[in-house]
Amino acid sequence: MKLKFLELREDYAKILFEDVKPYFVNAIRRTMIADVPKLAIENVIIYDNTSALFDEIIAHRLGMIPLPTHLDILKDCEDCKIHYTLSKEGECTVYSGDLKAEDPIWNVKDKNIPIVRLLKNQRLILEAEAILGTGKEHAKWQSVVGIGYKYYPEIEIDMDKCDLCHDCIRQCPKNILSIKRNKLVVNNMEECSLCKACEEVCTKNAIVVKGNENKIIMQYETDGSLTAKEILKEALEILYKKYDELEKALGL
Ligand code: SF4
Ligand code: SF4
Repeated sequence: MKLKFLELREDYAKILFEDVKPYFVNAIRRTMIADVPKLAIENVIIYDNTSALFDEIIAHRLGMIPLPTHLDILKDCEDCKIHYTLSKEGECTVYSGDLKAEDPIWNVKDKNIPIVRLLKNQRLILEAEAILGTGKEHAKWQSVVGIGYKYYPEIEIDMDKCDLCHDCIRQCPKNILSIKRNKLVVNNMEECSLCKACEEVCTKNAIVVKGNENKIIMQYETDGSLTAKEILKEALEILYKKYDELEKALGL
């Protein structure tokens, strides 16, 4: 298997897998969703809440706030708990940035997630405890977002049949077809969504769209708790361990 980052940012990755089977890429995807651990608030002690929201709603909102997850520190300490405090009085909006961690390295990165609006003299005072968990237990422990993959597009154009009518160009939702030097060309193959709209509109059967099952493009975002690269690395390590255990269990 070959792997290449087509795009890589802290919170986004687009990866090209080559010489691979779809079920293996799907196993990576599922591991990223369900098995990669991250921090999330699990226990909340509310000392005072005179806002318009019930304690349970506040606790649920706190649970969904992405927390920085330093796996290098947390992995050797499965029972680690990270403590946060919050104390605000209205009139104001309480944001994720109002959660104060015991050590600043755990402070929330996205400080502008609204939790509740406090009117004059309303108060919210609480303590929260975050623990490691995985997406298979609850979505709040899922660090990967909007993950998906597609087969690498392959578009064949038969210029002997094509009369340059432009129908497919008009139909393509990705705007990647054009005519250059009297030839129909694909400008950015990777952008093709394999929707086959071009193929369906062509009355001359001059264009055929296929997906290469052994060459796959995967893309995903993160919620900010881990970087895109960390999530992939972690998922591959988890999968490796699982295959290793299976191999041993089978006595291979
Ligand atoms: S619709 Fe068919 S014939 Fe028309 S430009 Fe596209 S490929 Fe050529
Ligand atoms: S399959 Fe869809 S996205 Fe791809 S070239 Fe054809 S119309 Fe455009």
